[in-house]
Amino acid sequence: MPTQRDDCLFCGIVRDGTYVNQTKGFIAINDINPQAPVHLLVIPEHHVDSFREIGEFSARESKHLLEFIADTARSVGLTDYKVQVNVGPTAGQTVFHLHWHVLGEGGAASKTDAMATAVSEL
Ligand code: AMP
Ligand code: ZN
Repeated sequence: MPTQRDDCLFCGIVRDGTYVNQTKGFIAINDINPQAPVHLLVIPEHHVDSFREIGEFSARESKHLLEFIADTARSVGLTDYKVQVNVGPTAGQTVFHLHWHVLGEGGAASKTDAMATAVSEL
């Protein structure tokens, strides 16, 4: 079983079970305060405080995680996007359960919105 913390926000989200995407050991959710049209968070089920503890994941898990980030971006229609990890408070980390930000300008939904706007302006 992955390590969980009762007092951790993201451990609670892992337990809640409402995800954008999921694979063995990792979940993806929408960021509650998006900094881009598409802003996802990829979160390991196993609690570690930050990227500094990445060594707690095996080589196989780490590869699986990286593939899951790419698969999740693809699944919401992103081709171009940023993947970011904030490590420590002065680098912007505010939630101390390791997570990857996936930030993109538009996925499948926003492409549809843009087309609707373009058609309405014809
Ligand atoms: P960081 O500042 O790198 O630690 O990122 C933490 C991220 O978690 C921020 O982008 C927040 O907007 C996001 N966040 C905080 N609480 C929630 C929540 N309940 N559900 C989804 N995202 C959250
Ligand atoms: Zn946690």
